[in-house]
Amino acid sequence: MLVRTIIVEEKQTKVISQLACATEEFDMTPRILVVEDEERIRQFLKRGLTYENYLVDTAVDGKDGLEIARDNPPDLVLLDIMLPGIDGIEVCRRLRAASDVPILMLTAKESIEDRVAGLDAGADDYLVKPFSFDELLARVRALLRRAQPSQPQVYRFSDLELDTGTRQGRREGQTFDLTAKEYELLELFMRNPRQVLTRDVIFDRVWGYDFGGESNIIEVYVRYLRQKTEMEDLARLIHTVRGVGYVLREAEA
Ligand code: CA
Repeated sequence: MLVRTIIVEEKQTKVISQLACATEEFDMTPRILVVEDEERIRQFLKRGLTYENYLVDTAVDGKDGLEIARDNPPDLVLLDIMLPGIDGIEVCRRLRAASDVPILMLTAKESIEDRVAGLDAGADDYLVKPFSFDELLARVRALLRRAQPSQPQVYRFSDLELDTGTRQGRREGQTFDLTAKEYELLELFMRNPRQVLTRDVIFDRVWGYDFGGESNIIEVYVRYLRQKTEMEDLARLIHTVRGVGYVLREAEA
């Protein structure tokens, strides 16, 4: 699996012009908030995303970002972790407390701690610098697509329910909230009950792009879903199929 890495530089704007624009599916132009203190990257993202027909607001630090998000609610936030003052993790937590806006974290380090901290704070995804602009675009499109409302329905499996309108789960009369990624993963399971879903299929359907092979992001999200669906002591519904993937099925007697 080839993951292209393009160092974020001004000259890469010519790459942008070759990329297909896939924003026509939206009725309204999505508004993206870029929170990044490093001017070169901030300007690069603003130019590139504007070229791709997104409306782009930029913020130079966390405080600025929170104010802009409040005054002009974005459809998606690109959030750098290392920011002066209020850092990206804290900004993420505060944004998440106020809305379900998709949040894509930008991290400078290949640090597992940073990624997990971002996900714990409610981020939907992360990208490690240096990143390729087309990978960034793919993730932006995937996150925006998932945020699109559709005809609400309720999936049911055993005593578990998933409401596509409220994007909440329910089991044994207890309703629980889901982050955007948790929701997509649970929806995939609910649409394919009793079918073993391989890791490749899950990556493809939920993350929607080639992901670095060694990532443990599926395990992290399955763990989140188990915490939510099993509450205190309810029987496990999402089972590990060792060496293959996962399956939604009733607990074995
Ligand atoms: Ca920074």
